[in-house]
Amino acid sequence: MKSDIEIAHEAKMKPITEIAGILGINPDDLIPYGKYKAKIPLSYIDKEKYQQNKLILVSAISPTPAGEGKTTVSIGLAQGLNRIGKQTTVVLREPSLGPVFGIKGGATGGGYSQVLPMEDINLHFTGDFNAIEKAHNLLAALIDNNLQSKKRSLGIDPRTVKWKRVMDMNDRSLRHIIVGLGGTTHGVPRETGFDITAASEVMAILCLAENMEDLKQRLGNIFVGYTYDKKPIYARDLHAEGAMAALLRDAIMPNLVQTIENTPAIIHGGPFANIAQGTNSVIATKMGLSLSEFVVTEAGFGFDLGAEKFIDIKCQYAGLKPSAVVLVATIRALKYHGGKPLKEVSQPDVEALKKGIGNLQKHVENMKLFGICPVVAINRFTTDTDEEVEYIKSVCREMDVQVAEVDVWGKGGEGAIELAKIVNKIAMNCPYQHKTLYDWNWTPEAKIETLAKKIYGAEAVDYTAQAKEDLKKVYSLGIDKLPICMAKTQKSLSDNPDLLGRPKDFVVTVREIEVAAGAGFIIPITGQIMRMPGLPDEPAAERIDVDNNGVISGLF
Ligand code: ADP
Ligand code: MG
Repeated sequence: MKSDIEIAHEAKMKPITEIAGILGINPDDLIPYGKYKAKIPLSYIDKEKYQQNKLILVSAISPTPAGEGKTTVSIGLAQGLNRIGKQTTVVLREPSLGPVFGIKGGATGGGYSQVLPMEDINLHFTGDFNAIEKAHNLLAALIDNNLQSKKRSLGIDPRTVKWKRVMDMNDRSLRHIIVGLGGTTHGVPRETGFDITAASEVMAILCLAENMEDLKQRLGNIFVGYTYDKKPIYARDLHAEGAMAALLRDAIMPNLVQTIENTPAIIHGGPFANIAQGTNSVIATKMGLSLSEFVVTEAGFGFDLGAEKFIDIKCQYAGLKPSAVVLVATIRALKYHGGKPLKEVSQPDVEALKKGIGNLQKHVENMKLFGICPVVAINRFTTDTDEEVEYIKSVCREMDVQVAEVDVWGKGGEGAIELAKIVNKIAMNCPYQHKTLYDWNWTPEAKIETLAKKIYGAEAVDYTAQAKEDLKKVYSLGIDKLPICMAKTQKSLSDNPDLLGRPKDFVVTVREIEVAAGAGFIIPITGQIMRMPGLPDEPAAERIDVDNNGVISGLF
C-alpha cells in the first residue's frame, strides 16, 4: 500500500494560476508563493455571494488520538461535489508543527483525498504561523519592556500579567518559566511560560477578524493585566496593535492550493478545537463562499468542541450559517468507545461497536439541538466488516438520520458520490432553522451550564476557588456577554479523557477561566487541558527526513 506522501508525489498538480482561474481570480491579482501556492487579496470577498452560496460543515464523533478522518472526508467530499457538477472549494485550517512532529501527524488529509503540496502545507507553508508567533511575542516583549521602563511605566503589576509567549512546537519544558533573571539591566523577574501558537489569542483573533481594521481593533483589545492600582491594561495602552497588525499584513490573506484532483483548496489559520475555536479563518470561509457554489469546511475534534464553537462563536460573529453538517464516524473509534483497546480496533467486533454506539447517538442528538438535519458519513477503513457497517446504518435509520459510507481515502472524490448527493439535497432543501445553543446575553455561568448539561451530558458544573475569582474578573472587565470557548479534552464528551462512549452522571469542573477580550470570548479551562502540549515517547519527528534533492519523506 502506498503511503500518503508517495501518493502525493505521484499526483499531477496544476500551476496555481490555473486553479485561481477556476475561481475566476485574475492572475494579476494573485500573490504567488512559488508555483503551487498563492495568497488571495481580500478584495475578492463578496458579501452577496458569500450569503447566497452553500456552507457545508464537517464534524465528527469523539476521536481517537489518530483522528477519524474529518480533513480527509472534507477534501473527498469537495472532490465528490465537483464530480456531481457542483463547483466546490474545500476550506481548511493550516497544520501546526506540534501534531506534525508529535502523534497525529500532518493535517492535509490522506490517501486519495489530500491537499497539495503536502510537505509545504505541513511545514511552514506561507509563514502565517511564524507571523502570528512574532506578533504575539512582540506584545510579550513590549510588556516586559514596560515593566523595565522608569520613564514610561504604566505601573503594571507583573503578577497579574497572563500574556505568555508562544511557539509552534510541542515542548512541555517551556510551559512554566521565569524570565528577567540576571540583574537590573536584564528585565524584571516574573513567572510566565509558553503556549503553542495554535493556542495564541492572536491566532484566534486572526481567525475571527473580518478585515485589517477589525484585526487591529481586536489586537488592541487584548487584555494584558492590571496596574498596582487595579486598573486594567490592554494591548492598546502599550500601542502594540499597529506593529502587531503590520507583522500580520500578509498572514491575513488566505492561501490557495489544490487537492489531488485539482479541486481548489483555501487553507488559512489554525486554532486547535480543544483550547481555541478550532476552525479556519472567517476570511477564508467568506473567500471560499465568494468564489464557489459550495464550500466544505472542517471544525476540529468532535461535534461537542469544534462544531459547537463553529456555530455559537464563528457563525455568530461572521453572520454565516451552515446549510448541512456531516458527522464523520469510524467503526474503529466506536469500538474504542465500546472499550476495545486502541491497538485492537482493527479487529472485527460488533459487540464492542454496540457498546460504543452511544457516542455517535449523543453527537447526533446534539446536532438536532441546533436544528441541523444531520448526515452521518461512515469513513470506511479496509479492516471494517460489512456487518459492522450495516449495524451503524441501521442505528442511523432508527434515529431517522441520513447515512452514507465513504471511501475517499481509497478512491478520492469517487468514494464520496453518495455523500455528495445527500449533502447537495439537504443543502438545497432542508428547512434548517439556524439555532444557537445559548444567548450571548446570558451570564457566563448560565452559558457554561447549558453547554455542560446539554452538549456534554453533565449533571452539574463545579468551579474551583480560582475559577470563581476569575469569574469576578470577567464581570469587572465587562466581558460577561461574550461567547464561551470551552477548553476541554477531545477524547471524551465529558471533561475526563477516560470516560469513553456516552458518559453519564459526571460533573464538569472549571479549573480556571481565561479571558480573550481581543478575540472576543471567555475560555473556561476544564480537566488537565494544556495550552502547550508535549511530545509523545516516540515522536513522529523521528521518522521524517529529506534527501539531497530536497525530497521529504516520513510525513503523514
Ligand atoms: P481528522 O481531520 O479527523 O483529525 P484526518 O483526516 O487528518 O483526521 O485523518 C487522520 C489520519 O487517518 C490521516 O493520516 C489519514 O490519512 C488517515 N485516514 C483517514 N481516513 C482513512 C481511511 N478511511 N483509511 C485509512 N486511513 C485513513
Ligand atoms: Mg483535521
